[in-house]
Amino acid sequence: MFGYGRNNFTWNGTLKELESSYPAICKERHRQNMTASPHSSGGLEVLLSTLQNAGDVESTLNILNVLDELLSAGTDRRIHYMISKGGSEALLTALVNTGRSFTPNYTILLPLLHLLAKVGHRDRRIGMKAEEAGAVLLTLNLLKQNINHARRAAACLWVIQVLSSSVSTANLIGENQGLDVIYCLIPQYTTKHLHTIKAAIHAFAALLCTKDNVCSVVSKGYISGLVRLYEDWHSKDTQHVALSICYALLLCLHKVTHSTAGRQAFISQGGLRVLYQTTQTCMLSKALESLVKPSVQLMRKCLPKTPLPLTSDQSAYTFPLPGRPHTVPDIDVTPDESSDESDEEAENNKETDYDEDLETDLNQLRIRPDPDRPKDLLPQYSRLCPELLHDFQELDLSSEPEESSPASSSSSSDEDSVLLNSFPPRTSRWDRRSSSFSSDSSPSLSASHSNKERATEGHTPGAALLEAWDFHSHSSILSTSPRFRTMVRKAREEAPPGQRGDEHDDVEEGGEESHHRTTIDRLLERHGACIPHHEPKLYRTAAAKTISIPGFNILAFPDFWGHLPPPGHEPMVPRKPNIQRQKVFEDVQRFLNTDDIINQVVFDLEDESLQSPSNSLRFFSKFECGNLRKAIQVRSYEYDLILNADVNCSQHTQWFYFEVSNMVADVPYRFNVINCEKTNSQFNYGMQPVLYSVKEALEGRPHWVRSGTEVCYFRNHFCPARGRKRTTFYTLTFTITFKHNEDVCYLAYHYPYTYSALKAHLKVLQKSVDPAKVFFRQQILCSTLAGNSCPVVTITACPASRAWKDIHQLRNRPCIVLTGRVHPGESNASWVMKGTLEFLCSQDLVAQGLREAFVFKLIPMLNPDGVINGMNRCDLNSEDLNRQWSKPHPVLSPTIYHTKGFLYYLNSIGRTPQVFCDYHGHSRKKNVFLYGCSVKETLWQSGSAVDTVRLREDPGYRTIPKTLDRIAPAFSFNSCNYLVEKSRSATARVVVWREMGVLRSYTMESTFNGCDQGIYKGLQTGTRELQEMGVKFCQSLLSVTKDTLYSRRLINHIDLDHNILDHKSHNCFEDDEPPCVEEIEYSTDCPALKGTDLDSDVNSNMANF
Ligand SMILES: [Zn+2]
Repeated sequence: MFGYGRNNFTWNGTLKELESSYPAICKERHRQNMTASPHSSGGLEVLLSTLQNAGDVESTLNILNVLDELLSAGTDRRIHYMISKGGSEALLTALVNTGRSFTPNYTILLPLLHLLAKVGHRDRRIGMKAEEAGAVLLTLNLLKQNINHARRAAACLWVIQVLSSSVSTANLIGENQGLDVIYCLIPQYTTKHLHTIKAAIHAFAALLCTKDNVCSVVSKGYISGLVRLYEDWHSKDTQHVALSICYALLLCLHKVTHSTAGRQAFISQGGLRVLYQTTQTCMLSKALESLVKPSVQLMRKCLPKTPLPLTSDQSAYTFPLPGRPHTVPDIDVTPDESSDESDEEAENNKETDYDEDLETDLNQLRIRPDPDRPKDLLPQYSRLCPELLHDFQELDLSSEPEESSPASSSSSSDEDSVLLNSFPPRTSRWDRRSSSFSSDSSPSLSASHSNKERATEGHTPGAALLEAWDFHSHSSILSTSPRFRTMVRKAREEAPPGQRGDEHDDVEEGGEESHHRTTIDRLLERHGACIPHHEPKLYRTAAAKTISIPGFNILAFPDFWGHLPPPGHEPMVPRKPNIQRQKVFEDVQRFLNTDDIINQVVFDLEDESLQSPSNSLRFFSKFECGNLRKAIQVRSYEYDLILNADVNCSQHTQWFYFEVSNMVADVPYRFNVINCEKTNSQFNYGMQPVLYSVKEALEGRPHWVRSGTEVCYFRNHFCPARGRKRTTFYTLTFTITFKHNEDVCYLAYHYPYTYSALKAHLKVLQKSVDPAKVFFRQQILCSTLAGNSCPVVTITACPASRAWKDIHQLRNRPCIVLTGRVHPGESNASWVMKGTLEFLCSQDLVAQGLREAFVFKLIPMLNPDGVINGMNRCDLNSEDLNRQWSKPHPVLSPTIYHTKGFLYYLNSIGRTPQVFCDYHGHSRKKNVFLYGCSVKETLWQSGSAVDTVRLREDPGYRTIPKTLDRIAPAFSFNSCNYLVEKSRSATARVVVWREMGVLRSYTMESTFNGCDQGIYKGLQTGTRELQEMGVKFCQSLLSVTKDTLYSRRLINHIDLDHNILDHKSHNCFEDDEPPCVEEIEYSTDCPALKGTDLDSDVNSNMANF
């Protein structure tokens, strides 16, 4: 390889071997210089000690040579061993001894500096050691003396780079003109001394690890110089021989732009434009690929922070909380004063240890805390066990309808249709259109929009040939106007009083008898899809009773009309290569090329008078679950969308649902949801948003379809509108090419499922069951803060007869309690719940068996207010309700308070649920899986010292997940876990497990995306698969029935021809997705220089001797 002197040693062993075999040689060779401590017997120590006290050049060179040989071969372990034996100190002392001389001997100094660079690079404390040895300024002086001597300068520069790993050392060098000296060593493009130039740039970059040095560089105007240097090298290096120089310059720019002032200087010096242009040329050449990533990251970092164009970050909707002044606490108004300019050293400890969150306190894991309320508050919940109170008179009286059951008394949905009919139809869109035809002066609000094409279509009003546009949300067809609402309310009040607390959805016929068939009737007849368990008119009646904060009185078409899963599967979309990069370029261009930028607000939830221009898309979101706050047309076919924050708060944006219309067909429109908050999303891993087209629905294809190309999710340059604490926003971008002109479409994060849909669905179910066989009761758990009722449903089998034996069997059935949708943005949970409900009401043999074995208590929507108002995470109290279970507030978190109270009650009467499961959606993982609770697994995982061998735990918590793994294609056993985390101690699952003693207490998480195993591998889930999961969960309950023989027979009945087992891949437990090909989060740095990179530079400097 190479050598400093004449004697080359070859060595293939370890340093330890050296210690045992070399002492003799060493001693022999350096006998005169032996000053090592008599106790030190190791060969390495001898070498190091000799080095520090070396007298003659030749012995010193020999030692350096031996050390370099030793350290060059093998792994870094040798160097670390040497460091542990004082190697750094020895080299530093030798450096100081040699370098102090008036005429330093470079024959020794050069190899010494080289070795120091290699060793120091692996010694985290090298800076401090160098300061103690007085080697820092000495090295800087050597550099100053050798600025015209490329090899020597390079050697000094590497050492300076290495020493600058310490903030105080870097500052020391900075204070002594180090930055200026080194900056002067970076010339314009040249082909000479590339090694030295590269070393200078790296040393310069290393010095920029401190705030002081960055400030100094910014104030001296070096940023402009660095930008120009980069531009110069980049443009002239046509043969790509100086790539590493360009890369190193980017590294410097990354470092200086850590500070706000640095970023400002970078922008004002045209850095953004230079990078944009150079990157465009980079992309033409594969050789330059390595420069693209750091360039793109730098551009993203430096894009000027742009506040969201909102007057306030607070939600557009506020709700006065009981017992609180009617002012919304703006918790986050303190301006962001935290500096982004902190020194780097301290910044690398952000990762919190996952295991630290595990609950290891055995008391916390085992002891049940006292109930959170007095015992005498529990009997009120007895009303929620109607199956225990019911006398089943009707069983003997056969067909007589049951008085307290609205299900059996209501014969059809006539009352709803009458109500619909009585609604004046003559204000619908096409009437207005006809009036605008007859007189062009008619100031019809939507005339500008509709006339242009319609005139040629020749449709005559009254022909009931409605176009999609007629179903635009503003249209009265989809309105539940105040008048309609009053009628519904009146009818409700007049309804015969039933059992207290029971839900009575039946609406008596209104006074206005109207027999003529309405538009909606004709339409439903003509186009209406036959959607199981969905009745549009019933939906409308339910929606009229739903209380929203803004007072929604318009229905979104898909919720009203209903939808069916599209035929065929929807595969996850493969990510287009470099899509994120491309989108970032488009975003950067907003700053560089403003010619095509429109930047016009076209929709504002808070400004209803706003008229969108005729050539822009129209947006609307004032309907249940809708939450678009603002839309800004950025370019002709590009829109920024801002989501409304959760009510009474200024954050939690992720879920979206809105209407879009006035589109031109076959043109790609880019949509950017610019205030997402999650750090990563399945949108980066094949997931698409969902789209519903009214036109398609009217043509018989009422589907929510996964749509959007160029889907990508990344951190953006927006910041909160007003001084909220350091918040980072993410952009979800996707491109939609609409199929039809002038369609009305809906876009959503996931298949919407409204509160009104639940109410309507429960009613349909109630009507569907045979009351002689299925005991189905819908009751009100409690009223929400906004005044909506939170339904609780009881489903079980009616006893076979009124014989004591049968009634007794019913009253002793174990309970299963299922809850869902505590997080309003997780609409997938509702679809799973829908599957569960339908299955439990069905005539399926297994369902029948389950009803005979259990009493099901379902609370399908724990957070109605959140769902209704288009929230993502919280309730009106701006709290995450799934963190309130420890001590729920009776007034502010009523649904949780009463669900828990009901569970306490069941506990108190000896009917503790056998299974509890809370349905959720998971935004960052694939598949469906369960979280459970296990003391043993938690202690094992945490590495706790508690002796788990003697700890007894019923392993029954694994039965259901194991069964699901066998029968549910979307389910992944490997993704389940049973660890109790401290941060989850107030969730439903943990509280029900700990406080109620429910062994099988779960959270069921369903993906928003799809599966990466089983027969659904590579497919996005639809409502069909989600509902199927709800069915499978029920079926899995057979595994916990007492009558095992019977259940085994039933399990065989479950359709197993999926052959799931063969397809299950055994993916190991992983927390999140593997990183994308492209970084989601830009790192603040270029990738760190690896030790081996420095080594090869140093080595080549020697080779060039
Ligand atoms: Zn959740």
